[in-house]
Amino acid sequence: MNKRIETKLVHGGEPRPRIAGSVSIPIFQSSTFEYAGEEGYHDIRYIRLNNTPNHLALHEKLAGLENGEAALVTASGMAAISTALLSLLSCGDHLLVQDCLYGGTHDLITKDFPAFGIEVDFVDGNDPGSWRKRLKPNTKAFYVETISNPLLQVTDLKAVVGFAKEHNLVSLVDNTFASPMNFRPPEWGFDLSLHSCTKYLNGHNDIVAGGVIGRAHLIEKIKHRLDHMGGTLDPHTCYLLHRGIKTLAVRMKHQNESALAIANFLQASSTVKRVNYPGLASHPQHGRAQELFDGFSGMLSFELEGDVTDADRFMRRTTLPIVAPSLGGVETLITRPATTSHAGLSADERRQLGISDNLIRVSVGIENTEDLIEDLERAMR
Ligand SMILES: *Cc1c(COP(=O)(O)O)cnc(C)c1O
Repeated sequence: MNKRIETKLVHGGEPRPRIAGSVSIPIFQSSTFEYAGEEGYHDIRYIRLNNTPNHLALHEKLAGLENGEAALVTASGMAAISTALLSLLSCGDHLLVQDCLYGGTHDLITKDFPAFGIEVDFVDGNDPGSWRKRLKPNTKAFYVETISNPLLQVTDLKAVVGFAKEHNLVSLVDNTFASPMNFRPPEWGFDLSLHSCTKYLNGHNDIVAGGVIGRAHLIEKIKHRLDHMGGTLDPHTCYLLHRGIKTLAVRMKHQNESALAIANFLQASSTVKRVNYPGLASHPQHGRAQELFDGFSGMLSFELEGDVTDADRFMRRTTLPIVAPSLGGVETLITRPATTSHAGLSADERRQLGISDNLIRVSVGIENTEDLIEDLERAMR
């Protein structure tokens, strides 16, 4: 569908003609479908083979959002990431990754990949000059994230694509934090864009799902592996994701605006030491974020003056944000990464990454911005 993203969110991939006139796609709660002449195993219509009408509609909708050639939904963000990487890499291969990764991905590649004989090297996503030193004859892919967690750093994404092309590597980017509203990796030359659809795409903190968008021949390879590994999204969850995606534009626009207002409020506050938000002029990669993104997302983090006890007391005194991990939904969530997403690292490792123990991360929801600011202000006092 050749329309703007707000329209594609609502109408892209919808079955035509409408099934029995149904405005909202029905849930195809059928594990298997009558044989209709399918020729290969991967084409047999069966839920695990990711090809019920609920899957196919979502695939087309997702691909359209980022102007990718094809897409695939999966049982979770981690199913998307693990299946994509294990489709591209086998025993003896080498992977380059950016050094500050989502915790689950970090654990997958450092704890599971060695047993599969897959080597990994970490690089500084903001220092392209250092990447060549890490390159090996068996390097196959380069994996990065659009916006890092929890410091919201923006990787040199254009350099990643250039470097991958030059050295014949598959480029992958976890685009969860930006969402297709703010950044569309295929438009910038990435081979694959990965999502935890649990977050912004679904947007309601009520399901777990994942997605891969990108080059058709790679998506087909990943689909075959997913068919074997079994990380399929069930039709009922497909339906919930489908419904959530339709409102991404209105949610994300509000979240972009609200997070910027909150970041500005925090930056002006005398009890706040530091604010991390790519939309602030003070952010080290603000210029890059302006060039690449249509919005700066609803994620921000900050440090209060004082110690961990003060940070905890502040969090307890907020009344609207819910203290919980995860992000991207309609409810504002607040966490201290040292006790959640980055609890697996030692205090030393966290310090090296710049994650202080009193750093607070906020996923801004769709509540009224002034109400959120008043609540934060009250908790700070
Ligand atoms: C949550 C998240 C994941 C993992 O997704 P699940 O849906 O929980 O499996 C991967 N990457 C990022 C950036 C995330 O925020």
